[in-house]
Amino acid sequence: MTRITKHLVNLQIRIRDAAHTAGRNESDVSILAVSKRQSVDAIHKAQAAGLNAMGENYLREALEKMPLCPPETEWHFIGRLQSNKTRAVAEHFDWVQTLDSAKMVRRLNAQRTADRAPLNACIQIRVDDHGAHGGVRPEEAAELCRLIEASPRLKLRGLMAIPEPAETQAGQRPAFRRLRELYDQLRSEGFELDTLSMGMTGDLEAAILEGSTMVRIGTALFGPRPE
Ligand SMILES: *Cc1c(COP(=O)(O)O)cnc(C)c1O
Repeated sequence: MTRITKHLVNLQIRIRDAAHTAGRNESDVSILAVSKRQSVDAIHKAQAAGLNAMGENYLREALEKMPLCPPETEWHFIGRLQSNKTRAVAEHFDWVQTLDSAKMVRRLNAQRTADRAPLNACIQIRVDDHGAHGGVRPEEAAELCRLIEASPRLKLRGLMAIPEPAETQAGQRPAFRRLRELYDQLRSEGFELDTLSMGMTGDLEAAILEGSTMVRIGTALFGPRPE
């Protein structure tokens, strides 16, 4: 058993326990392995343990690693999106989780080539005031959903957030709850969302209790990130 396999077993227990506490099924919560600053070897080990979806924040690093990984790897861009990055994201990734402007939607739609499946898209929501991680305000989400739905080279999948870290579960839950309420509201308005990307190593239980369908996990899988 590799170290990553052991970590994955423990992670699956955490996910299962939180899902059961919430009266949910653990199979409704998928794991995105956050491989930023991890080696290609670590990615191969994660894949051998059964994980195929990898999240990367840094474009240049991701583009270097991609050719060395199996072609079936599902790549998620979870870093800050800027105009000068959209072409490479459109050409090389399967998902973008950090959409937060109409301009980025238009650029990605224009740059995603016809030979690839539409780019799966999550809108990043600013669920608290600090805003250091980007994201749109909740009241701007519906308009962006409409624009993505009208973009044939993108496929609207859901919402994502990176809340300000909090120490306790009670402190972590309100931001996740706000994101889930927005998700429910958008679905009730007819938007076809199936992904609520929230929860990381330090707060995955709180996120699952509030309805997360995808946790993004780096440290709990790979160990501390190399500097
Ligand atoms: C780094 C990162 C993660 C994973 O963080 P861990 O605490 O190591 O699990 C998840 N989501 C985003 C957007 C990140 O940048």
